[in-house]
Amino acid sequence: MRDALASPRVEFDDFLSLISPESINHLEELAARAQRLTRERFGRVVTLYAPLYVSNHCSNSCVYCGFNVENRIQRRTLDQREIEAEARSLWEQGFRHLLLVSGESRKEVPVEMLAQTAKNLHSLFPSLSVEVYPLDVDGYKSLVDVGVEGLTIYQETYDPVIYAKVHPGGPKSDYQRRLRAPEQGGEAGFRRIGIGALLGLTDWRYEAVCLALHAMWLQKTFWRTHISISVPRLREAAGGFAPAHPVSDRELVQMICALRLLLPDAGVVLSTRESATFRDGLAPIAVTMMSAGSCTEPGGYTEPGSAEEQFSIEDSRTPAEVALMLERLGLEPVWKDWDVGYLQDDGRDGGEVQG
Ligand code: SF4
Repeated sequence: MRDALASPRVEFDDFLSLISPESINHLEELAARAQRLTRERFGRVVTLYAPLYVSNHCSNSCVYCGFNVENRIQRRTLDQREIEAEARSLWEQGFRHLLLVSGESRKEVPVEMLAQTAKNLHSLFPSLSVEVYPLDVDGYKSLVDVGVEGLTIYQETYDPVIYAKVHPGGPKSDYQRRLRAPEQGGEAGFRRIGIGALLGLTDWRYEAVCLALHAMWLQKTFWRTHISISVPRLREAAGGFAPAHPVSDRELVQMICALRLLLPDAGVVLSTRESATFRDGLAPIAVTMMSAGSCTEPGGYTEPGSAEEQFSIEDSRTPAEVALMLERLGLEPVWKDWDVGYLQDDGRDGGEVQG
């Protein structure tokens, strides 16, 4: 561990040492180096974003998710007027980064509807991302063409055996199809791609190794695309699911700091699944992007309780409170770091703050 921390550039072998059980005894040194690296690469900036759930219809049966097709819950798909009302509510709170989220229902939420939504919201939100079912390159291109700049798609677990167990039905049971999605997003030209693993399904160290390799490969292959990583911890969900491999706070800090050292240019996203206390502690160390004030139900910002939520959030502070917390920590909450006007003539970045 000490050798790995001392090396000027953390290589993959060092990373394996940094995530070892023994290394948790050196967490403070690891965090200090991660913090220095985050300041060097990203400054004090933490970008704020909000998810907007378009629909909780889903044809999959992921055992850890409240939207599982087997669960008898109140389902809802927003129409364009309702989406705009939700979006305006977020805009009024300051957000300019919006993540459109949907369950996997191509009938309820066809790609054409997502493209139309993006067109409608573009004047309000210079940065739009999607977290939806996997598409092929042409499908993703149809979103890129209307200004969607970010794609978020988590493998959930990289262990194929566990993957099959927790995704027993629906199109998502195809492990390879999901694994190909970020690559297809890269080919389609997304400016940002976020990958991740849901912690709690299997040994976190296994996920850390696979996630690191996946991110390294994407960075090398799509070097003009900003890659970010996220490692949300699973919570109990509707249907009685409880994670089999819970991850402690210290282990999660160890994992994130080790990933920061191996991947100094990768964004690190921390959602409201984590508690306020945990987020406040980790924000200055390695985080570049945070959600705030999130609702995980369609229509939840303007009509709370009108549909089932995907999971309960832990940090229930308002976006303004989260921004204030960041300022108190000496960080700079950023609501907008991107505009299509920053593009060069070739359609690529002219350079901007990443995160
Ligand atoms: S995790 Fe996604 S795909 Fe799986 S049931 Fe939930 S909404 Fe559907």
